[in-house]
Amino acid sequence: MRKLILILALALAGCSSADPIGAAGDDWTTPGGDVGKSHHSALTDIAASNVGELGLAWQAELGTNRVLEATPVVVDGVMYTSGPAGRAYAFDAATGKPLWSFEPEIDMQVNRTVCCDMANRGVAVARGKVFVAALDARLYALDAKTGRIVWQADTVDDKQRGINSTGAPEVAGNVVVIGNGGAEYDVRGYVSAYDLDSGKLAWRFHTVPRDPKLGPQDHPDLEAAVKTWDPDSRWDIGGGGTPWDAINYDPDTGYVIVGTGNGGPYHTARRSPKGGDQLYLASLVALDAKTGRVKWHYQQTPGDDWDFTSTQPMILTRMTIEGEERPVILHAPKNGFLYIIDRRDGKLLRANPIVRTNWTKGIDPKTGRPIPNPDAANYAAAPKIVFPGTPGARNWHPGSYDPGAGLYYAPVLDIGNLLFMTPGKKPLARKMLNNDAALIFSPDIEAALPTLPPAIATAVKALPAYAEVQRQPFISELRAIDPLTGKTVWAKPMGGWQDRGGTLSTASGLLFQGNIAGQLRVFDARTGKLLRSIETGSSILAAPMTYRVGGVQYVAVMAAWGGGGFPYVPRYSAAYQRGNLGRILVFKLGGGPVPIPPALPPLEVASEAPPQLPGATPETVARGRSLFFANCAMCHANQHRSITPDLRRMQPGTHQAFRQIVLEGLLLPNGMPRWDDRLSPADADAIHAYLIDAQAKTRKDELEKQKRGIALDAPSLAILSSY
Ligand code: CA
Repeated sequence: MRKLILILALALAGCSSADPIGAAGDDWTTPGGDVGKSHHSALTDIAASNVGELGLAWQAELGTNRVLEATPVVVDGVMYTSGPAGRAYAFDAATGKPLWSFEPEIDMQVNRTVCCDMANRGVAVARGKVFVAALDARLYALDAKTGRIVWQADTVDDKQRGINSTGAPEVAGNVVVIGNGGAEYDVRGYVSAYDLDSGKLAWRFHTVPRDPKLGPQDHPDLEAAVKTWDPDSRWDIGGGGTPWDAINYDPDTGYVIVGTGNGGPYHTARRSPKGGDQLYLASLVALDAKTGRVKWHYQQTPGDDWDFTSTQPMILTRMTIEGEERPVILHAPKNGFLYIIDRRDGKLLRANPIVRTNWTKGIDPKTGRPIPNPDAANYAAAPKIVFPGTPGARNWHPGSYDPGAGLYYAPVLDIGNLLFMTPGKKPLARKMLNNDAALIFSPDIEAALPTLPPAIATAVKALPAYAEVQRQPFISELRAIDPLTGKTVWAKPMGGWQDRGGTLSTASGLLFQGNIAGQLRVFDARTGKLLRSIETGSSILAAPMTYRVGGVQYVAVMAAWGGGGFPYVPRYSAAYQRGNLGRILVFKLGGGPVPIPPALPPLEVASEAPPQLPGATPETVARGRSLFFANCAMCHANQHRSITPDLRRMQPGTHQAFRQIVLEGLLLPNGMPRWDDRLSPADADAIHAYLIDAQAKTRKDELEKQKRGIALDAPSLAILSSY
């Protein structure tokens, strides 16, 4: 009997210790599952033969309508995960009993410089602590048992810039590493490493240099980087390179590999006028985890002009290439290529396109450099339709790699966008949106033509890529890809271009993915055959994960719409049909049905607008429109059932308090910042006059539609720029 117990204990120990690279076991120890973040599980209890019995084990409603992007972590029977702005939660992973929750105190002024929703992509768990980064870039170490703060660190190095954090912290030996976002604003990207126990700053690495006129660089490795920039670059607005998501610790080499963000502003001409590669924008940079010194770098998009972040999730694994087993990084950034890179030295082993690409003529395998294609992609002087578009061939939604099958699974988006410099000289400024180019996604280009300045519209129609956009505006698919060739083995269409849920693969040959229409779908990973579709009534973007507690295998996923373009809720999404209350859904064999949120009531015609403000003229309204698009439209899409209020439907009380809301921060606790440092009372009134005008027009238009029996929610263009 004792022997049997010993064997059982050994077997359990074997199960619960995850393979450091390759697959997660009973526990799912990082947001990516294993140390390599493969989003692949060795568990096989749930298989094709029984997936029909999968049902809800438990759910938790999180009381928020903002995006959920995290993949939960499960350690020793406890699930830890994060929600909007860096909230953290712990649950009994078997029963769903809430153990604790944590809400960081945040000055919501930070929302002024957050491009893509109050997202958070997960926690790190180590040494009895849970690490989470709040939206205001404060890093918290919480007691894993109680959720109480053990230490906290303000990671912001410059309060004058629009710095935020949305990524999961990464534990790397004795330190925890966190990066930041804000390259659409004025941020100089960096990662910071803190001692796990004391919270003391161990090292910091800026991904781009500072103004050389300030003296030597603040990090020795930036002396080499600064030579790749124009000395007269717009240092005052940061440069970008923000590492807002993928940071992977490689235990085999002791390196922290950091994916860096796009250049800011988008076009090199406005950033580093004489050009240059501009290290370390849009790169993978390997840092020594002990010192923060650069060990190697590989720049995927030198001199980025297209918002081509390299922050998309990385998978560290091993592959046999040309007869040699190598430790590699599998990485598909926004720029359309799937890269395989040697983890030891950053050597490029493969770079294959997985979508239409015209920003480059291809990657030179000898030098690893892309071959420029300025005729198709340089929009400094004339508009261009560039593939891929700024949403990226891949974005933050995790893919998975099954080392047994040798297949990479991921949502892939093949889309382009029209880019042109906004007419007139836009002042680039601190803490302001500085993507100084108008961009229109390819599905919208044709409809947007009549709204464009005629010269630009004519030039667009003459572009070879315009015919391509008309032929095939976009392809959004779940794909199984051979990483060595970039070839698609099988593909399944997604619901639309915004529909790109993260994935989970398992050793039993299953592939799990949620969609924004509200189904959790299970595919045969080898063939792509749909085995099961579970209706949840909640939009899903985050990646599912799996774990085993008490001998039972569970599958969990966080569900809520949002992220980039969050105010534009797609009509085909569950969020549009049933609202966007965030949930964690956990499944097991023999579980029950998922409670479906009730359908929202039908749309109502916009209420009557108040009389126009005294003295407001058509010029006031036009000036207000321009101010609205420059300052407000990033969050206020003025669409039906938007995540943020549709300001074409303001109630009388909101109209009355308009100045107080905009200038005095009346609704700051709700997330609406104050703007009195940038907007005068006359500016606020001009915006108000524009919105009163918009409300009156919307009401007239909707009354007409109602009279003619037309649905009120006709699609409208996503317009973010006042071109
Ligand atoms: Ca960006």
